[in-house]
Amino acid sequence: MAAEILDGKGISKQIQAETKTKVAEFVSSHQTTPCLAAVLVGEDPASQVYVRNKERACKRVGINSQLHRIDASCSTTELLELVNQLNQDPSVNGILVQLPLPDQIDSRRVLDAIDPAKDVDAFHPHNVGLISQGRPRFLPCTPHGIVQMLKRCGVTTTGKHVCVIGRSDIVGKPMAMMLAQKDSELGPEMANATVTLCHSRTANLTEITKQADILIAAIGRPKFVTADMIKPGATVVDVGINRTDDGLVGDVDYEAGMHVAGHLTPVPGGVGPLTVTMLLENTLMAAKLQV
Ligand code: NDP
Repeated sequence: MAAEILDGKGISKQIQAETKTKVAEFVSSHQTTPCLAAVLVGEDPASQVYVRNKERACKRVGINSQLHRIDASCSTTELLELVNQLNQDPSVNGILVQLPLPDQIDSRRVLDAIDPAKDVDAFHPHNVGLISQGRPRFLPCTPHGIVQMLKRCGVTTTGKHVCVIGRSDIVGKPMAMMLAQKDSELGPEMANATVTLCHSRTANLTEITKQADILIAAIGRPKFVTADMIKPGATVVDVGINRTDDGLVGDVDYEAGMHVAGHLTPVPGGVGPLTVTMLLENTLMAAKLQV
């Protein structure tokens, strides 16, 4: 039987409609509109698309957005000055610095300089610490989007074996941390997983992935996950976005996955739209924390 496709785009629309209502309520109670400031360094085409999508999404739900462009040749000091200026600006509730940054920039210093109360990507060590202790201020956008999608599709995580491939600070690590907690913002049924976090040095990867009830691939390698790596009936979440000659391709061999998985996310139209949507939720949350 073919896998059920998890419609990230559709779920994203549904969540954005809910966010729009919450934003309108916030504006009417506080006479101020939440605002997201995006910092875009250079002209990287993919980054420009991501930032444009985020601006459009803000507009759809009634959140103000600002775009701060800075030249690709800028220094870490110049970028830090801009971040500090945004930290001080009371009209800005959330700050996102679009990654990746050019090589000459000390990315860690820049991300660490964002006021944790405005850190809507949840990259600041303070926010990461809160997530690891199970008391998040903001949930990281991609992992949060994945949990929202699973919940809304009736896939719970409690007691399940979840295998996450990829240990980045943006996706893999926070995903593993969230699912291993005793409870979550979405209830205990969306936590309490037995999590295996895999990476490039993992031995016998297929032996591990084949045991997973839920397999989350965040690797950045086109069609890396093949049918033999998937437990029949498993839920497979494909985070990967790989630009190839055939267009955007995920980390999972979609055609093969269709015949083995129980649920599968498409690329595009799966996790991607949810990442942007959860950024909007975090911007609203930041505005609420700052009134
Ligand atoms: P990173 O490059 O930061 O991390 C990739 C991870 O994959 C690393 O932990 C690496 O291991 C692991 N890895 C690489 N090769 C192998 C291998 N052969 N076997 C097992 N593990 C391996 O990537 P990101 O987490 O930032 O992104 C991953 C993908 O997700 C990319 O395609 C990215 O574009 C996409 N993405 C999509 C988002 C969305 O909204 N849909 C949001 C963010 C990212 P090691 O640590 O050992 O090097």
